[in-house]
Amino acid sequence: MFNKILIANRGEIALRVIRACKELGIKTVAVYSTADADSMPRHLADESVCIGPPPPSNSYLMIERIISAAEICDVDAIHPGYGFLAENAHFAEVCRSCNIKFIGPGPEQINAMGDKVKAKETMRKAKIPVTPGSEADVPDEASAKKIAKKLGFPVIIKAAAGGGGRGMRIAHNEASLVRGFNAAKLEAEKAFGNATVYIEKYLENPRHIEFQILADEHGNVLHLGERDCSIQRRHQKLIEESPSPIMTPDLRKRMGDAAVSAARAVNYSNAGTIEFLVDKNRNFYFMEMNTRVQVEHPVTEQITGIDIVKQQLKIAMGEKLPYRQKEIQFRGHAIECRVNAENPHYNFAPCPGKVTQYCPPGGFGVRVDSHVFPGYVIPPNYDSMIAKLIVSADTRTQAISRTLRALEEFQIEGVHTSIPFTQFVVNSRDFIEGKYDTGYIENVLNSGQFHNSSVKA
Ligand code: ADP
Repeated sequence: MFNKILIANRGEIALRVIRACKELGIKTVAVYSTADADSMPRHLADESVCIGPPPPSNSYLMIERIISAAEICDVDAIHPGYGFLAENAHFAEVCRSCNIKFIGPGPEQINAMGDKVKAKETMRKAKIPVTPGSEADVPDEASAKKIAKKLGFPVIIKAAAGGGGRGMRIAHNEASLVRGFNAAKLEAEKAFGNATVYIEKYLENPRHIEFQILADEHGNVLHLGERDCSIQRRHQKLIEESPSPIMTPDLRKRMGDAAVSAARAVNYSNAGTIEFLVDKNRNFYFMEMNTRVQVEHPVTEQITGIDIVKQQLKIAMGEKLPYRQKEIQFRGHAIECRVNAENPHYNFAPCPGKVTQYCPPGGFGVRVDSHVFPGYVIPPNYDSMIAKLIVSADTRTQAISRTLRALEEFQIEGVHTSIPFTQFVVNSRDFIEGKYDTGYIENVLNSGQFHNSSVKA
């Protein structure tokens, strides 16, 4: 049993972990940068430790400061949240060597899945379909050309250490391949300190469908169904839902089984997500595994009734999963809308600053996960997501009307937010009919419909 844990993160996910700990009787330590001195996680945790100035590289990414804070506060474990150090195998290793439990998989699993080229190779061996592409790193332009020719254009160049949509370039011909190859390498070096890239066939307008996995440390693995995350802008998810509008019981069974085999193939434990691309003919391909809790985990919680963060803590404490696959029931429909502090009328430019008025929606079936309060100042140093609206209802149609009702109620003043754009998307005929893919938002933006509608309004 953990007595006290440290949360190596900030914002809504830090709050999410604190809430789960409080309900389980576990004490919490929040670490914070000076930009987050007046933040909800800091105030709600039992203890807090300042770990440095605002830039993540001087605070939330400083392993030695986080470990010192953990040792000073005498914690049993560290929850990394998502982003920052959550998928850093070295951090998990340091935690292990300091006898502090890392609430996630071991460094071996993070490593096995963190390098996307190695991960795809492992999946191929486990007989899981993977997106067609290079079987190893692509060292130079000449090999890039050879691979692209074999796969056929379009292709996508991706960073082996990638994440958050960075280090990716799509190429439709040889000229854009050479440009994209060099640009992706540069971006990957800058973002991840690793310029290794690989090439995949670019699937035209697929759906992004991922499976939530829970695995304990005793060899039990199960999945909690899928999330459709195809509503993305620049490869960043905006709206997620479960079940997927295109899911059938047979496809869920096949994808769920593949997801469980993928986790087993690396001896996975704790919560994780297997991401797939699904083409028009409902063929699915393994894309990557995220070895941590995801931003969009609440949609799964809403339809299964399972608290994923509590399960993470219990698994890390050595408990066995309390369910079997056949006991997992899916009830109703859930939709999550990410609320970002950005201006959708100005190319989604980040919009940090003081939130002068904040009044979240409520009522039946509405959940808001957010660290914002009236007077809160959004720092410019971090991700622009300030809230997640999660709505659940018996049917997808009801969930859509409830989402629109809740978005209309959501009052945030002082900064621009993505809410008007989300309202536009959720209200669009194709979304309502469930007819969308990963290219949907780009099409909406290119068509000028959103801009025209807001001009009229
Ligand atoms: P990251 O880890 O940077 O988020 P992912 O590998 O998860 O990158 O890909 C993010 C998104 O990029 C996917 O959800 C999908 O929209 C798009 N994408 C990635 N690979 C392909 C591909 N081979 N074909 C088509 N789209 C792709």
